[in-house]
Amino acid sequence: MNPRDHLLNNGTADAYREAVTGTVERLAKALGAVERPFTGATPGDLAPATDAVDLDTPAASADAALDELADLYLRDAVWFHHPRYLAHLNCPVVIPAVAGESVLAAVNSSLDTWDQSAGGTLIERRLVDWTAQRLGLGESADGVFTSGGTQSNLQALLLAREEACERIAAASRIPLRRPEILPRLRILASDCSHFSVVKAARVLGLGDDAVVTVPTGADRRMRTVALARELDRLAARGLVPMAVVATAGTTDFGSIDPLPQIAELAARHGAWLHVDAAYGCGLLVSRRPERRALLAGIERADSVTVDYHKSFFQTVSSSAVLVRDARTLRHAGYHADYLNPAGGGNPNQVDKSLQTTRRFDALKLWLTLRTMGPDGIGALFDDVLDLAVEAHALVDADPRFAVAAEPALSTLVFRWTGGPPELLDAANRHARAALAASGAGLVAGTVADGAAQLKFTLLNPETTAKDIAAVLDLLAGHAARYAARHAAEHAADLEVQARAS
Ligand SMILES: *Cc1c(COP(=O)(O)O)cnc(C)c1O
Repeated sequence: MNPRDHLLNNGTADAYREAVTGTVERLAKALGAVERPFTGATPGDLAPATDAVDLDTPAASADAALDELADLYLRDAVWFHHPRYLAHLNCPVVIPAVAGESVLAAVNSSLDTWDQSAGGTLIERRLVDWTAQRLGLGESADGVFTSGGTQSNLQALLLAREEACERIAAASRIPLRRPEILPRLRILASDCSHFSVVKAARVLGLGDDAVVTVPTGADRRMRTVALARELDRLAARGLVPMAVVATAGTTDFGSIDPLPQIAELAARHGAWLHVDAAYGCGLLVSRRPERRALLAGIERADSVTVDYHKSFFQTVSSSAVLVRDARTLRHAGYHADYLNPAGGGNPNQVDKSLQTTRRFDALKLWLTLRTMGPDGIGALFDDVLDLAVEAHALVDADPRFAVAAEPALSTLVFRWTGGPPELLDAANRHARAALAASGAGLVAGTVADGAAQLKFTLLNPETTAKDIAAVLDLLAGHAARYAARHAAEHAADLEVQARAS
């Protein structure tokens, strides 16, 4: 085949249709045959076949390449749509988003400048405005789509840093430069905040001790008394609270920091308020007013992170950073003569973004909203919140397990407690690994209260209480067998140690 026959253009529309429908046919078949979330394949199982592929010699045909891919990837893929995938913050995706993905791939707009995207720019802007309006950020709000919560948090904290630098420079009598200012800046975030905050501080050139950790209470929400104390301490030491990061939906517990109180304290100390709602943003479309009210106070944020690919059932990537004051986005901008010269007149999203070439991810959310409406997405998110309540009741009533915290959104952290205390950490870790190896279910693991925990992240409305109960039985079985195997060994070890000492 002539290499040019692979180019997508007017003349190859038929070949395109054939290739894509053929691929979709295969995938539809594969999806229909998925029986478990994972096969349990290890890197050692899969690496030899991947390594053996000769990348300098193409497969005999496009079909052969797809056959090969089925073997290398699809057969052992991790399927987020399976009702027993209960591990990380990955949602099953809605069909309009997947359809949108094929549109944006084929047209391949780049959202950096108007002259590379035209109407795509306007669609992204409408969705930014729609989200800002749901957040209640006011008339001057703006924002931009990003690759994910990590990047949204980084961009928000970049804006906060620049605002702080400008303020400090303007207030000082002698001219201050960055090397003098940056070491004085601090970010306050709770001990349950996302690690991307610490990463962002590093990328932004702040000191190693730039992130001040504020403790959480038993409900895993930031303790405002502790925040007030830390802010006072910084003031007493002449340090600058560059930003307070409140988390609306912590990754482990779904807990939502007390936003109104935090907003009050941030305002009093002149700190930028960033709300990381990467996970909790799904509440924006909940059909239950009392659930939307859980985000009360978010309207006071200077910036907000939302991950549509976590709780709007969108494909990866789909995220945005929103700001209360559009002007602050200038800190992310740069005017290049060849791309977006100053005063050009056209709406160029690159002026607001850390990225240059950028996917038209907004298209997927657009098609989803136009097909299902916000209520449709909200109904799905409400279902998983309901499921979390059910799952909590199940685990809480089960003497084999102990719950670490009541679920605030759709995660549940718990641990198996049916064995000797000294074996519990290892038994819980083993149970998670053994379950994954069997492919019968996938759950996450974390550490809370100094102990190894298991975690359900429920984002699939198709998961039922029956699935939860079945996975709990499997986990308890693996853990109990581990404990039984190791209890004898452990007793023997202790005896040897006792004799030796
Ligand atoms: C997942 C998550 C992030 C990071 O988002 P990515 O899209 O994975 O980059 C940030 N904050 C919170 C609270 C998250 O749960």
